[in-house]
Formats: sequence, C-alpha cells, structure tokens
Amino acid sequence: MKVLISGASVAGPVLAYWLHRYGFEPTIVERTPAMRHGLGGHAVDLFGPASEVARRMGRWDAIEAARTRIESMTIERFGKRPVHIDLSRLYAGIASGHVEILRGELTKVLYDATRDSTEYLFGDSITSLNDDGAGVDVSFESGEERRFDLVIGADGMHSNVRRLVFGPEESMRRPLGGYLAVYSMPAVLGLGDRMLGHLSVDRLCGAYGVHQTGQERATFLFRTPHELRYDYRDKDEQKALLRKEFRDYGWKVPQLLEHLDSADDFYFDSISQITLDTWQRGRIALVGDAGFCPAPAVGGGTSLAVVTAYILAGELAAARSDPPSGLRNYERAIRRLVDLSRGIGPRVMRSIIPTGPGAVRLMPIAAAAVPKLPIAVQRFIWSQNAAGKALTSVPLPDYSDLTRAPRAV
Ligand SMILES: Cc1cc2nc3c(=O)[nH]c(=O)nc-3n(C[C@H](O)[C@H](O)[C@H](O)COP(=O)(O)OP(=O)(O)OC[C@H]3O[C@@H](n4cnc5c(N)ncnc54)[C@H](O)[C@@H]3O)c2cc1C
Repeated sequence: MKVLISGASVAGPVLAYWLHRYGFEPTIVERTPAMRHGLGGHAVDLFGPASEVARRMGRWDAIEAARTRIESMTIERFGKRPVHIDLSRLYAGIASGHVEILRGELTKVLYDATRDSTEYLFGDSITSLNDDGAGVDVSFESGEERRFDLVIGADGMHSNVRRLVFGPEESMRRPLGGYLAVYSMPAVLGLGDRMLGHLSVDRLCGAYGVHQTGQERATFLFRTPHELRYDYRDKDEQKALLRKEFRDYGWKVPQLLEHLDSADDFYFDSISQITLDTWQRGRIALVGDAGFCPAPAVGGGTSLAVVTAYILAGELAAARSDPPSGLRNYERAIRRLVDLSRGIGPRVMRSIIPTGPGAVRLMPIAAAAVPKLPIAVQRFIWSQNAAGKALTSVPLPDYSDLTRAPRAV
C-alpha cells in the first residue's frame, strides 16, 4: 500500500518509519529543497509517551546525544532580584523521559531512521488531490502526477494538504493573543548552557546558548491587545513589527535587536491553535501540527506530533484492508489527547507571559520553588497540570504484533 506524506519534519518521518515497519510503502514530499535538519530553528520537547515512541524506534540514544544542554534559567525583572531555576531538576521531577532538542537535530535523527526505507521528494509540493474512493490522484508542483492509496498531511501549522481538503486556514485558526519570534545571533550575552529571560507584563524575552554552534538564540514572546496584521511571507515586515514592539523595552533588548537584521533563520508567527473537529476524510488525513497544532512553543506540539504519528501508523496497520476505517479509528484513538492538549497553550501562555504585575512577581518564585520539592510531589503537580494530563490521557498502544519486516537500514 502506497502512502504519500506531505512534510518531512517530525510527524512525517515518524509516520513513515512505522508505516514501513508494518509493510506499507511511504513516500514523503517536502517543499524545502533539502532536509531542514541541522542546528538552526528552535528547541522542542519530547515528554514521556513521545520519548517512549523514540525508544521503540531505537532512536532514543541518538536523540539524547543531540539534546540541548540547558540546565538552568535565570529570570530577571525590572526592579526585582533575579530568580534562578534548576531546569534539570524540574524536568527530572515533572516529566520523566523528557528531552529538549533542536527541531532540526530531531529531524536529522528521524531522517536517518527512514532515509533507506522511504522515498523522499524534496523541493516539491502537492497542488491537487482527487480521492475517488479507491485511491488518490495527486498532482505536484513539479508537474508530476501519481496515484497513492492514502495521503497524509504532516505539513505543519500552515498545512497545504489541510487547505486543499478541509478549507482555508482562517476558518480554523484560533489565535491565543500572543506572538513569538526566534533567531540566532552571536553569543553576545555569554550564556554558555544557560537561558536568560526578562519578564514584564505581556512580555517575555531573552536568549539561550546553543552548545553545538557556540551561538545564542534570541527569543521574544509577547501579547498585543489587537491582532497584528502582516504578510506571513514578508520577513522584513515581521522584523520591523518586532522592533516596534520592543523598541523602548530596555534591559538587554538593544543587544538582541542589533542582530535581528542579519539573522537568516528569523521565525515570527502568531501563537495560534488549529481547531478542526475532524482530521480525516476518505483516504486523506492530517497528523501533528497540520491537524491540531496546540500552539507553537507553548503547547507541547512536538510530543503530540510524535505520538499521533505513531498511533496513525498503528491504526492503519490494524485496519490494513480498509484504510478509511483505519483513519476513522485513528481519529477516535487520539480525540481525547487532542482535546486535552488544546488546554495546554492558553494555560502555559498565561503563566509564562504575565498578564499583570502580580504574575510578574509570583511566576518566577513558583517556577524556582517546584524543583526544590521532593520528586514525588513534583510528579503529582505534573500529573495535575494541563500538559501532564493531556500527554498521559491516552495509554500508548502496543502495535508490535503488526510489524512485518525488520527495518531496512
Ligand atoms: C519558535 C517555535 C518554538 C517551539 N517550541 C516548542 C517547544 O518548546 N516544545 C515543543 O514541543 N514544541 C515547540 N514548537 C512546536 C513544534 O515545532 C511543532 O509542534 C512540531 O515541529 C510539529 O511537527 P510537525 O511535523 O507536525 O510539523 P512541522 O515541524 O511544522 O513540519 C512541517 C513540515 O512540512 C513542510 N511543509 C510545509 N508546507 C509544505 C508543502 N506545501 N509541501 C511539502 N512540505 C511542506 C515544512 O517544510 C516542514 O518540514 C515550537 C515551534 C516554534 C515555531
């Protein structure tokens, strides 16, 4: 059975890996001319169940070896003493099996796990899909036309497959009222393996060190009273917007903004969720951010992408002779996880981008106190918060009896 996957970042390669293990023939089309792996981009998290999927793929050691090494964070505020947070103890307590890794590094590990068993088509994109009930005819930008048994959109928050099959993004995008900007710069703050942040009402900014490049990555999260209007393809316009928002901020922001113009990996987007109620139609489905982005940087999207891709492959394998019913079973299996994960972004946003002076005062103190609690108490707190509840809401199914051939690498 031939499966076309659009998008080669996290969900796409995880899905391709497992589909191959179950005897399917995966093809991945990725619009960038080469794999977007490497040391650019942002740091993402794998929590418990996603880490378990990586272990089942035999990739945990490679992921751990590539992890970021940020173990402490200092939060500064205007007129208050800095607060130091022991992140390693925090993660050890609240989320066993947690790893933080640059998205490009994670993609590299996943690409290495699939490159010999998956057909990769780089620098191309789907232009049309026609599902006739027995298969899907696909046209590509390159002019090629092919037929697949199934097509899966794993092409992120601004998914192309979703637009072609489920409609325009505007109708399903739920802005959470914040914005996010990230870019690389020289190590101007001398952070090493530390993260330094500055907190004020509606603002969190700072940087963290990237040990693999010796550079630092500037990060800005902010809330605005009204939605900002900008062209999502126009990086210069977005840089000007960021500059305007933080022009008079003070602190170390002028040092960070000095490197904005020369940043070639600048990322800017609204912190929004994708709120579709269904992720499958006939022989076409969505996975990861394409289907249910829980909001970048604040929603646990990477773990969700890994776990849902694993479940999608398993449900397709279980319903082998009837792919549409496999897709419906996938939707049923992940619905609770997706529903609960929608609660993560708004809560995390409220706690990391303070809405008032009280939150500016209390948030760092609370964050610094948690790692000092006994591990069992930290685990209880994690189990009660939105991220912990969502990610543990669906026991990871065991599809091992469905695997067909050992992975060909
Ligand atoms: C700045 C930032 C910080 C973040 N921080 C965190 C964090 O701390 N923790 C966390 O868990 N998550 C974080 N996230 C979210 C995380 O990156 C996503 O949830 C995760 O990458 C989702 O994986 P995905 O494979 O579904 O989609 P993506 O990683 O978005 O990948 C989509 C892929 O599809 C490709 N594509 C797009 N359009 C097309 C097309 N037309 N044709 C073919 N291919 C296409 C893209 O090039 C890309 O390779 C952050 C995101 C951002 C932007």
